[in-house]
Amino acid sequence: MHAGQAFDPTTGAVIPPVHFSTTYAQDGIGGLRGGYEYGRSGNPTRTALETQLAAIEGGARAFSFASGLAAEDALLRAILKPGDDVLLGSDVYGGTYRLLTRILGPWGVGVRVVDMSDLDAVAARLAESHAVVLWVETPSNPLLKITDIAGLAKIGHDAGALVVVDNTFASPALQRPLDLGADVVVHSATKYLGGHSDVVGGALVLHDEALAEKVGFLQFAAGAVSGPLDAFLTTRGIKTLGIRMQRHSENAASIASFLNGHGRVATVYYPGLADHPGHDIAARQMKAFGGIVSLALADGKTARRFAESTRLFQLAESLGGVESLVNYPDAMTHASVRGTELAVPEDVVRLSVGIESVDDLIDDLEHALGSL
Ligand code: PLP
Repeated sequence: MHAGQAFDPTTGAVIPPVHFSTTYAQDGIGGLRGGYEYGRSGNPTRTALETQLAAIEGGARAFSFASGLAAEDALLRAILKPGDDVLLGSDVYGGTYRLLTRILGPWGVGVRVVDMSDLDAVAARLAESHAVVLWVETPSNPLLKITDIAGLAKIGHDAGALVVVDNTFASPALQRPLDLGADVVVHSATKYLGGHSDVVGGALVLHDEALAEKVGFLQFAAGAVSGPLDAFLTTRGIKTLGIRMQRHSENAASIASFLNGHGRVATVYYPGLADHPGHDIAARQMKAFGGIVSLALADGKTARRFAESTRLFQLAESLGGVESLVNYPDAMTHASVRGTELAVPEDVVRLSVGIESVDDLIDDLEHALGSL
């Protein structure tokens, strides 16, 4: 709540002002007040957010971008050169796969896909590739697979690769990958960090000073920075992240156990369930199990209809806001990976469980399942 958020020294305003100015008066050429010169190279509202991001993830440096994908792009271009490979988790966000295969691929970057929850498979795949980056989401999107971050970091570092964790689903309120040995944390701040479905943003947090210099240069030179209002909204969202994640997790746990016993549901994917294959690792490395629950319908053909039948859960892309959303990955968030090795099964529906009354949410799901 407090990192980077000191009151304004000139007025005493408890909330630091939002700085919209694109340029900064100089006391003689090069005489900068506070180091600010031009809005793309630096802005005090963005600095406030980056200070906050570094604090919540426990990193030395943080960078805020216009979107999660802009952050990923800057990081990958800071690290990779032609001939390098990236070892990618088998159900990462489809846009990450698209960025790597369709934008960086033509520049000579290779992609290998592996189930990151299987560390033996990761070690085997590493041995046969030129991977310089291991890229994982845990919990993953949308199948909620869990990777042992400390174990992955050891395997990656032994092979001389950087370990990047997309921490969008857990958020630092529940899991801090840098503390577990990861090198870089990536966020779509559009999700839980912003938390209210009203800002698109991205973030990188890391320790290594040399890599931070390269990322900072790309942020400045390619220019995909977050605007001042977006930075402010993200900052405001982060102040309530801890209590929101607690409530998201409580509601999701109740919904997972409701769905688990329901006749129309074949499988519930939620790391908080004791029979989830990653449950023990998740219990070790996360403070709670998060707000995303996915399910496979017993009659796979009804998944699409189920996603269109809820009322309180709104049918929409994205996740991580205070309001509950339902998504049909095959035709929505993951349509870009249909037919690839990252395709999501057609019977799967993803729920982003909000912070509403859990009784209302369960009523809504019960009604939608009953109508199939
Ligand atoms: N990472 C994850 C896990 C995501 O779910 C998303 C978007 O859905 C992204 C990255 C990309 O972020 P953005 O949409 O902010 O560019």
